[in-house]
Amino acid sequence: MNATPADLLLTGGVVYTMEPGAPRAEALALRGERIAAVGSARHLDALRGPETRVIDLAGRAVIPGLVDAHCHPVKGAIADLFSCRFPFAATPDDIAAALAAFVDAHPGADVVIGGRWGAGFFERHDLGSPRAWLDRLESDRAVYLRDDSGHNGCANSRALALLGVGADTPDPPGGTIRRDAATGEPTGLLLEQADVEARARLPDWSEEQYRAGVLETVATANAFGITALQDADATEPLLRAYRDVDAEGGLSLRVAAAISTPYGGRATPLDYGEIEGLRERYTSRHVDPRFVKIYQDGVPTTARTAAMLEPYLADDGVPDGFRGHLHVDPDTLATDIAELEGRGFAVKLHTAGDRAVQTSLDAIERAHARSGRADLRHHLAHAGLIAPEDLPRFRELNVTADLSPYLWYPVSLLDSVRAAIGARAEDYWPIRTLDEMGASLCAGSDWPAAIESMDPWVGLSAMVTRRDPRGQSDDAFGADQAVSLETALRVFTIDGARALRCDTQTGSLAPGKLADFVVLRDDLFAIDPGAIAAGVVEETWFEGRCVYR
Ligand SMILES: [Zn+2]
Repeated sequence: MNATPADLLLTGGVVYTMEPGAPRAEALALRGERIAAVGSARHLDALRGPETRVIDLAGRAVIPGLVDAHCHPVKGAIADLFSCRFPFAATPDDIAAALAAFVDAHPGADVVIGGRWGAGFFERHDLGSPRAWLDRLESDRAVYLRDDSGHNGCANSRALALLGVGADTPDPPGGTIRRDAATGEPTGLLLEQADVEARARLPDWSEEQYRAGVLETVATANAFGITALQDADATEPLLRAYRDVDAEGGLSLRVAAAISTPYGGRATPLDYGEIEGLRERYTSRHVDPRFVKIYQDGVPTTARTAAMLEPYLADDGVPDGFRGHLHVDPDTLATDIAELEGRGFAVKLHTAGDRAVQTSLDAIERAHARSGRADLRHHLAHAGLIAPEDLPRFRELNVTADLSPYLWYPVSLLDSVRAAIGARAEDYWPIRTLDEMGASLCAGSDWPAAIESMDPWVGLSAMVTRRDPRGQSDDAFGADQAVSLETALRVFTIDGARALRCDTQTGSLAPGKLADFVVLRDDLFAIDPGAIAAGVVEETWFEGRCVYR
C-alpha cells in the first residue's frame, strides 16, 4: 500500500463499493478529490497520518453517489420557483386558490404559467368550457396551465389571443386545438403539438431564472444523494446556465446533457454542425454534452401517441387499427444516428411504444453498419413495451434500456395504459428479463414528467418491491420482474455512470476514482426494502467534498 497519508479517512462502517471483485469494505480513504484506498478498517489505518481527518462511520453505510439517468430537473426547478404550482390531485377550488395567491405575489406578471392538472381533470369536474372557467378565475392576464404528462395545456382567452389561436387556426400536424362543437371556438385545451407550439410562443424564462433553476437542481439532487444526472432535453439556454454555474464553482453534480432536437414529425436530417457547435460551446468540467435527444413517439396511455406494433383498443374518435405515430421516418433516423455516431455522440431516443423500440433498433443496426462503430451506447428511453424478439437486440446492438422505475407499481398512469392497450400492459417494464439477457440498463426519474419528485429512493424501492413505496396501494405490479436490491443499486450507480459515459471516473468506489459517495443513516441491506423510500441519506460527497448534510 502507498504509505502517503490520506487527507480523510472514513472508517468503521459498511462500504458497498459496487466493484465486482470486492463488493464490501469497512473504510474509505481520500486524497484530495479522489479515492486513495478502499478496504478493511485495519488495513486502511496505515494511511492515518498526523494531518489525516478521521470520520467514524459508527456502523453507517456508504454507497457510490446515485445517478438519475433521465430527467428534466431545471424545468422542474424553474416551475417550482417561478410558476403557479398545484398538485396533480388539485380540485378546481385548489387551482383557483393557487392562481389567486400567485397573482397576489406577482402583481406585475402579464403571463401566468402554471400546472399541473391531473389526467382526466376536465372530465372529472363539470366545468363547462375550460377556457370560460379559467376566464372566470383570471381575465386580466394570460394564463396557461399544463397537465401532469407535460404534453397538454389549457389557456384562458387572453392566452389564446397572445398565442394567436382562434376559430380559424388549423390544428398543427400531430396536435389538436379542442373546439366547441357548436361554435368551433377553441375550448382552451391545446394537445400535443398544439401545446408544443404554444410553449414556443409564450415568453421564455430569463437567464437569471435558468441559473436559479440550475442551483435549485444541484441542491435538490445532492439532498437525494445524486451526484450525476442526464438532462434528457437540453436546449441552449439550459446548456448555458449549466456551464455558467459550473464556471462559478456551483455545480456539485456531473451533468450529461442530451442536446435537444425539434419535437414532432420530421423527414429531414438534423443540423449536425449546429449540434457540434453546441457541444463545443457548452462543454465544461462537469457538463458533458456528448448526447443528443430524439423523440420517436409519445405515450401509450389513452392519449394513444406511442407507436405500437399492434393497434390500440378501439375508442370513440380513434380510427380503426390505429397504432400511433412514429415521429422520425426510418431512413432519416438511420442517417441521423450514423452521422451522430461519426461525430462521437450517443443518442437518447424516446421510445415508449414497441414499434418505436423496434424501428429504433433497426435504425441503430443500419447506422452501426454505415458508421463502422458500435461503441457508443445509445439509450432507448421509457422502453417498457418491447416485442419478445427485440429483447436480445439490446445486448447485440450495445443499446442501453433507459427505464423509469419511479412508476413501477399500481399508479393511475398504469390504468390509463391498460385502457389504451389492454392485456399488453401486463408485460410493461421487463427489467429482469433484460438484465438476464445482458442488456445494459439505467434508470431515471423523468421528473417533472409524470411524477412529482426526482427522489431516486422511490425508484430504487419500486424496482425491488414493485409496490407503491408510500403504501397507497397493497397490490404489486409485475412482481415477477422485480430485481434484487443489489441489482437495483448497480443500475442506479455504476450502470448509470456507464450510460452517462463517466464510469471510469465515478459510479463505484475504487482507488483512483472521484470520491462521489453517499453516507446513509441505515444499511440498506439490513432494512425492509419497502422502507428504503422513506429517505436514508445523511451526507452526500462530491469530488471529496461534503455537499449535503
Ligand atoms: Zn423525459
